[in-house]
Amino acid sequence: MITLEGVSKYFGSVGVGQAAVQEIDLHIEAGGIHGIVGSSGAGKSTLLRMINMLERPDAGRVIVAGQELTALSERKLREVRQGIGMIFQQFNLVHNRNVSGNVAAPLELAGMKGIERKLRVHECLEQVGLQDRLHAYPAQLSGGQRQRVAIARAIANRPQVLLCDEPTSALDPATTAGILQLLKQINEELGVTIVIVTHEMDVVKSICHTVSVMEHGRITESYSRAQHGFAPAPDYTLSYREQLL
Ligand code: ATP
Ligand code: MG
Repeated sequence: MITLEGVSKYFGSVGVGQAAVQEIDLHIEAGGIHGIVGSSGAGKSTLLRMINMLERPDAGRVIVAGQELTALSERKLREVRQGIGMIFQQFNLVHNRNVSGNVAAPLELAGMKGIERKLRVHECLEQVGLQDRLHAYPAQLSGGQRQRVAIARAIANRPQVLLCDEPTSALDPATTAGILQLLKQINEELGVTIVIVTHEMDVVKSICHTVSVMEHGRITESYSRAQHGFAPAPDYTLSYREQLL
């Protein structure tokens, strides 16, 4: 579903000759939940943002659902991006729009109108359990509820892929568990392929099928639940490898 070939990204701020993301090769199967872990500054967010080309790679190819995104014009990209949802640590909701308005936004962009759009908004909010908060504003919601609205918005255009950058880092453990359950449900019921950037090994252990460990812009280790099983209790004094296996 997602293939990265020799993908690199350089920023001026990163040391001379050092890339934020360096020659990444990665394949993520359709229907899976893939985790990307690693310490701060490892390049996780940059890598994620290159999957939907919010960040354009300086080298390499990005292929999503059979389409080479690195070969597309900006105009065509805007269209393709509608099929790739994204959520963030800080939810990034529009504050002066209510819940319904936030979820409707990507549908408006896609040209959906009237009753069809209204029904789709309801459907998405039902999926995340917030159908009774249609008229609330983001400021009136808890962090967990805001993330649910962000998820409803991200799935509104029926994406094949959902990219999540630290989706639970701003949430307490109980709320985190609820959001992870919801992502798992979206993966299983809607067949959406999910990529989650996180620094929390609990997240990987509870829902990921496969995981990549990043260090200094490179993927240094890869594991799969099927092949390695993921050990239960995490211990943050241990390395990623020791925590997982
Ligand atoms: P964190 O866990 O703190 O979110 P990360 O693994 O997501 O870290 P990135 O945000 O991808 O790391 O950053 C990787 C490197 O690229 C860092 O050295 C960062 O300073 C640099 N970087 C990222 N975005 C930019 C930018 N827009 N301009 C300049 N440098 C950037
Ligand atoms: Mg980041």
